[in-house]
Amino acid sequence: MGRDLGPDCRMCRREGEKLFLKGLRCYSHKCAVARREYAPGQHGLKKAKLSNFGIQLREKQKVKRIYGMLERQFRNYFLKAAGTKGVTGHLLLQYLERRLDSVLFNAGFAKSRDDGRQIASHNHVSINGRRVNISSCLVKPNDVIEIKTDAKTTNAIKNNVEVTKERKIPAWLAVEPGNLKIKVVRLPMREDVSFGVNEQLIVELYSR
Ligand code: SF4
Repeated sequence: MGRDLGPDCRMCRREGEKLFLKGLRCYSHKCAVARREYAPGQHGLKKAKLSNFGIQLREKQKVKRIYGMLERQFRNYFLKAAGTKGVTGHLLLQYLERRLDSVLFNAGFAKSRDDGRQIASHNHVSINGRRVNISSCLVKPNDVIEIKTDAKTTNAIKNNVEVTKERKIPAWLAVEPGNLKIKVVRLPMREDVSFGVNEQLIVELYSR
């Protein structure tokens, strides 16, 4: 077995995909997923047998970690989704994807969602010409998000764009990387979520 991995990398290995939780490391040869040629669970990675509750709980913990949420915040998104007309699981993911920190990550302006949170909360972003420093701000169709900051931070974000260029940008965002500008074309749909998730498990967990 390899050396001990942190919980984030272990989660990626277990899920068999890169979840981009560690910033620059995720794009390097040090990434635990990149270093292994086999999918987690194949060679000696034993999977614990979990109860239904355990499976549901693990899915929720995964999504919470991906979006960097505490339980209270995450539950609030669930309640918001449950109170909105439509499929609750899809709406939950839609709300999470619409957060400004997620948008900056999805557009490739940030290496991780944590990184996106830093960029947003340090006042480097404007939406429709107005400064926004709230990373949980929800974007909507036709919003225009721009990086408005000093030369040093602009260069750092341009460097992020270069580092993340292999990642696919979801179709609901029209990105001008050269101008560090994003237009929200439409609301994100279920198929725009870039990682594997069974959101129904989370809905079932909260419905217990
Ligand atoms: Fe670790 Fe990032 Fe690679 Fe996931 S993508 S295994 S968090 S380095």
